[in-house]
Amino acid sequence: MDKETMLNPEEALNRVVQSANLLPPRTIALRDACGLTLAEAIVAAADCPPFRRAMMDGYAVRVADAGRTLPVVGEIPAGSVWDGELAIGQCVEIMTGAPCPAGTEAVVQKERVRRRGNQATLPVSIEPEQNIAPPGSDCRAGQRILDPGATVTPLAIAAMASFGIAAVQVVPRPTLGIITTGGELAAEGRPPRQGQIRNSNGPMLRAMAQLQGIQDPRQLHAADCPELILQALESMARLDIVLLTGGVSVGTYDMVPEALIQYGAEPIFHGVKQKPGKPLLLARKNRQLIFGLPGNPLACHLGFHRYVAAAIRKASGRAAMMPRSRGELAQAMRPKGGRTHFIPGRAEYATGAPASWRVEVLPGVSSSDIFRGCRANCYIELPPGEQTLEAGSTCFFTWFDGLPWGA
Ligand code: AMP
Ligand code: MG
Repeated sequence: MDKETMLNPEEALNRVVQSANLLPPRTIALRDACGLTLAEAIVAAADCPPFRRAMMDGYAVRVADAGRTLPVVGEIPAGSVWDGELAIGQCVEIMTGAPCPAGTEAVVQKERVRRRGNQATLPVSIEPEQNIAPPGSDCRAGQRILDPGATVTPLAIAAMASFGIAAVQVVPRPTLGIITTGGELAAEGRPPRQGQIRNSNGPMLRAMAQLQGIQDPRQLHAADCPELILQALESMARLDIVLLTGGVSVGTYDMVPEALIQYGAEPIFHGVKQKPGKPLLLARKNRQLIFGLPGNPLACHLGFHRYVAAAIRKASGRAAMMPRSRGELAQAMRPKGGRTHFIPGRAEYATGAPASWRVEVLPGVSSSDIFRGCRANCYIELPPGEQTLEAGSTCFFTWFDGLPWGA
């Protein structure tokens, strides 16, 4: 990592997105497809509704019978068919979703009809075709209902399920592995000995991967030794993306760059002009993308939030770049130094004129501080510069993934 070759955060993000590969599509069960990106067009296989459907609980009638009292000659629950043809002077009770019998000119809402025994008195005005959905009125056979690139939402699943589609072509999520490094981390489940700490980046990265739809990332730990890190990398050689955390800086025990050389990975960049997370590293081996994330927990979190998540989104066929939101700083800030700052913040919706996102700054003491930041729901992005930003001034921020607005 040297100052000359360090990228600014925009360049680094562009390199990540350029380097990530869109994964080849795969056919999976519709029930498992929610949230994935469609890799095929979906065309309606039939008219929907398939028949003239009653849209209300009421009576199938002829328009000429408006205002008259008539015998109710039948009943059609949803799912049943009434075979006869409705004649003038007759009506049939019909439920929402049932097919209208031949001869039906309108369905009159139950609430507008006076029923006594087997006789029904119809309202004086009846519009032809009222409360009837004609076949194909929702969707015509052959109509394209979803394009490749669309996200499979619950409504998209409903649309496909209504045509009997049970499997779809989608872009899968990348497979992902997490390697924590550092001799100071206590073994899982063991109390830390003197000088040791617990591994918090491993569980954090796993949780972040899960919010990106990667259910079960592989996880390994390696001590600060190139051979052990190499072994872990080799055991993950088939995965699409590998994250290492810790050991990426210039310390005597920072062995990740060395291990990556031995692994045969091609470096893409090492060092980003940002705070926190300057020593971020990106490398590639064949189609595998490898991130070296700093060990400091907040820097590691930012590295995933801003860069790894973009690679996962690109690989999964989604828009890689997250839009930035605009808000108002709740308090004055005085950024230091010549690097872009990413500061954990808490955006809350402030009604007023005009309504806006009010963004509270939750600065930690350093990039190892996750304790003040753990209430955060966004990163505030402050451009390099020394000038004070007053309370109420405009700021840009990106939402943490998976959190509802204002959470
Ligand atoms: P490094 O990047 O390896 O120099 O680590 C920077 C700081 O992050 C050190 O204080 C480490 O102890 C800490 N650290 C590294 N890995 C982890 C981890 N998995 N969980 C929590 N802290 C970590
Ligand atoms: Mg370390």
